[in-house]
Amino acid sequence: MKIYGRGDTAVRALDGATLSIPAGQFTAVMGPSGSGKSTLMHALAGLDTIDGGQVLLGDTDLSRLGERQRTLLRRERVGFVFQSFNLVPTLTAAENIALPLTLAGRRPDQEWIDELVAILGLADRLRHRPTELSGGQQQRVAVARALAARPEIVFADEPTGNLDSRAGEALLSFLRRAARELGQTIVMVTHDPSAAAYADRVVFLADGRVVDELSAPAVPAIL
Ligand code: ADP
Ligand code: ADP
Repeated sequence: MKIYGRGDTAVRALDGATLSIPAGQFTAVMGPSGSGKSTLMHALAGLDTIDGGQVLLGDTDLSRLGERQRTLLRRERVGFVFQSFNLVPTLTAAENIALPLTLAGRRPDQEWIDELVAILGLADRLRHRPTELSGGQQQRVAVARALAARPEIVFADEPTGNLDSRAGEALLSFLRRAARELGQTIVMVTHDPSAAAYADRVVFLADGRVVDELSAPAVPAIL
């Protein structure tokens, strides 16, 4: 449960939302504006606290952790991809990709990063700064950055929102591949049914609750 504000103006942004995300699954979260998608994602990622209930990442209950512990947990176990890319403009693509590891004081697993860079088609863009890259390339750098530390779970907030359809499809294919072939757990918030169709499973929110669920093969039928 997540409540914003108090008294008469209080909003129950999450109210009995229950879901379980198996490791290695690519899950899409859909729902109308205001249904609680961002709040759910922030709660699952340990970006925000909740007012009741539990958020379990493996055996760890995020709802019992303090701010400092949640920050550490995000750094070590969670990756983020945002609609706005959030790349550091003064750093090259390679430096942006390595940033979470640099901040965590960890040595990059260069073989893994090389593999990511190759799969994402970024090998000849590593020395470029964000302004020298297309939107699709910037988003792929953001995805490589999210995966660089091999986090247990990656949260993507409208990752195709700022991409043209071809770049969007390439990104979604990669996310699906990351789940299927690399065993990465991915949770993506999207408004776009054709983006959700790439996921293994689609969870629908309304009024802070999970109201429906579909496995991917059923999704195109509702478009
Ligand atoms: P979605 O991402 O699906 O659009 P949100 O999680 O952003 O939904 O919002 C869920 C509900 O919580 C909405 O009613 C929204 O107005 C409210 N809400 C979200 N963030 C805040 C906030 N910081 N303060 C007050 N109300 C908020
Ligand atoms: P929006 O899409 O609404 O512009 P974002 O999705 O980019 O916002 O960011 C949502 C929240 O996550 C913000 O409060 C931001 O401060 C936080 N945030 C952004 N990047 C990170 C990160 N790498 N680690 C932790 N928190 C982050």
